[in-house]
Amino acid sequence: MKAKCVICEQIEILDDDSALAKRLRNRPVHTYLCNECDERIKQKTLKRLETGKFITNRGIKVKNDLD
Ligand SMILES: [Zn+2]
Repeated sequence: MKAKCVICEQIEILDDDSALAKRLRNRPVHTYLCNECDERIKQKTLKRLETGKFITNRGIKVKNDLD
């Protein structure tokens, strides 16, 4: 099946039998992210967590699973 990345609009061909293809068939196609963008989102999320940690360390103590 074909899947279009929601961020860069790159079209990728997925193996119909792959777990990802099966998941996408049950969900709207717009949830698909290519590996590149998926990785980028992960990095952004990590950065946001680091920033959040920095702010919370000034006051409230928050348990951080990344430690
Ligand atoms: Zn992409």
